[in-house]
Amino acid sequence: MVSSPGPRVVVLAGGVGGAKFTLGVREALRRRHAPQATVIANTGDDLWLSGVRLQPDVDSILYALAGQSDTVRGWGRAGDTERVNEELQAWGAGWPWFTLGDLDLGTHLARTGWLREGLTPSQVLSRLSARWPLGATLLPMTDDEVDTRVLFGDGSRMHFQEWWTRHRATIAPVAFENPGIAAAAPAPGAVDAIAAADVVLLAPSNPVVSLGPILAVPELAEAVRSTRARVVGVSGIIGGRVVRGMADVCLTAIGVETSCVGVAGHFGSRTDGGLLDAWLIASEDAASSTAIERLGIRSAVAPLWMTDASATAEMVEAAFAAAGV
Ligand code: GDP
Ligand code: CA
Repeated sequence: MVSSPGPRVVVLAGGVGGAKFTLGVREALRRRHAPQATVIANTGDDLWLSGVRLQPDVDSILYALAGQSDTVRGWGRAGDTERVNEELQAWGAGWPWFTLGDLDLGTHLARTGWLREGLTPSQVLSRLSARWPLGATLLPMTDDEVDTRVLFGDGSRMHFQEWWTRHRATIAPVAFENPGIAAAAPAPGAVDAIAAADVVLLAPSNPVVSLGPILAVPELAEAVRSTRARVVGVSGIIGGRVVRGMADVCLTAIGVETSCVGVAGHFGSRTDGGLLDAWLIASEDAASSTAIERLGIRSAVAPLWMTDASATAEMVEAAFAAAGV
């Protein structure tokens, strides 16, 4: 009997950090001649704007895998222009603080058109994915609309994108909610992929608003808890700092310390009802290993700067080693 090449990998990922990590996973698997990974992307960031459906985290990963991202600006499509956006602003349509690139709008129009024709978001993403050789299977976490809302102390709420993009996360939140998520079904194929995997990797994405919504889909959380795969998380916090973005504000809001130990404790050990078998921390945080092991989580240490796909592939290899694959 010829054994199948492994490992079979599932990645849970948010947008820009998730996309960079996914490129490293693809590179590591190519080096091993292993099957392509399945990437389950956060859809909590999704929104309706000017009549079109945006899936920012899904698209960040799609564009990165397709080699179409604007790597200088850090989001959107390479070589994009903003002619339609200027026209929308002139009409007073949409949000003045949320730029829609012309090429990016092409994606949103295609998506919205297909949704109107009755396709599900997963079917739409499968069509969008067919345009380029992605080297991975990309799935939304769910086909249900569960856009993240930010809740404030005075009881008011705001769409996540307004808080993040317009207010740059400067208004202190008390909680994050995804209305309807308790009844949301995982996208077709997601649970099976997790069940059949050898390794489930938690990208170093925002633990609260990127990984949080994915793990709030009840059947996805259950699949991660019950899989025979090793579940390995990668810290997005290096030396007590979020590398980029404002994840620290999200962690503080839910009472989690911005440190690799704090986030490990938030996800918890699988040995007592949590999610993690192992947690990969940065070399700068090597001294925190004991504290992580004390949580019942195996700790592993590696350089965690995702400078390019090759460096990120090394980091993914360290996660594979922690998983014993
Ligand atoms: P978003 O949806 O675009 O905000 O992106 P993600 O949630 O997927 O990822 C954002 C997170 O990635 C940030 O909060 C950082 O903690 C993390 N991050 C970004 N760059 C790096 C890096 O080079 N190394 C590590 N370990 N984490 C990173
Ligand atoms: Ca995001």
